[in-house]
Amino acid sequence: MYLLLMGPPGAGKGTQAAKLVERYDIPHVSTGDIFRGALQERTPLGLEAKRYMDVGALVPDQVTVGITRERLAKSDCIGGFILDGFPRTLQQAHSLDQMLAKMGIRLNKVVNIVVPDQELIPRLTGRRICQSCGATYHMEFRPPAQPSICDRCGGELYQRTDDQEETVRERLEVYRLQTQPLIQYYQERDLYSEINGAQSTEAVFRDIVVSLTGEEP
Ligand code: ADP
Ligand code: AMP
Repeated sequence: MYLLLMGPPGAGKGTQAAKLVERYDIPHVSTGDIFRGALQERTPLGLEAKRYMDVGALVPDQVTVGITRERLAKSDCIGGFILDGFPRTLQQAHSLDQMLAKMGIRLNKVVNIVVPDQELIPRLTGRRICQSCGATYHMEFRPPAQPSICDRCGGELYQRTDDQEETVRERLEVYRLQTQPLIQYYQERDLYSEINGAQSTEAVFRDIVVSLTGEEP
């Protein structure tokens, strides 16, 4: 299954992608994760991306398209993938169409997780991530059993620097201006489903699976 997960920052794309990976055994391709991984390794790509991420701006299309093309060309993506955080501009959407055409692949579905802005801000400012395995928590909505320690692997939890309120507001504005127009792009291609993301994680997952398969999980 070739799936594109859309939605504003904090909608729950990463949270749902982790559940979909378990269910369908296909890789989760997140451009944000790729940039953060590169930054952790202090590569030139990571250091360039940091300049944009720190202020809530988008990394230039040319860079982002390049890393996505490389990632989708890896053998684990042959049978399917969950794309999260890409495309974020119309230019990226056109580039994705070209990439997929070259690979002889068509997207099965574009799932947009919709959450009102007033809910996104507390979700993002309360988000914590495991330094070791990348699992996502929330101080209030999904707290770890022990403060700052990952339930899954015992790793240390950290807060993303771009999850500070001021940067969050900038990211939401960037989403509204640059990414929201993609909704119409995919609606016109008959691939598009909208999911109410302002429900429990389990209810959102159920609605996504129903939209993908027509059946309850
Ligand atoms: P995204 O990948 O879209 O930016 P995340 O999956 O990282 O979003 O979720 C953002 C924050 O909101 C995380 O702290 C996560 O634990 C929390 N979260 C995710 N889904 C829900 C939900 N349905 N209800 C409440 N909080 C949620
Ligand atoms: P995310 O993890 O999806 O919230 O992305 C974190 C940050 O990475 C964004 O605020 C951007 O700076 C950068 N980023 C991730 N994906 C893209 C993309 N498709 N285009 C441009 N920048 C991106």
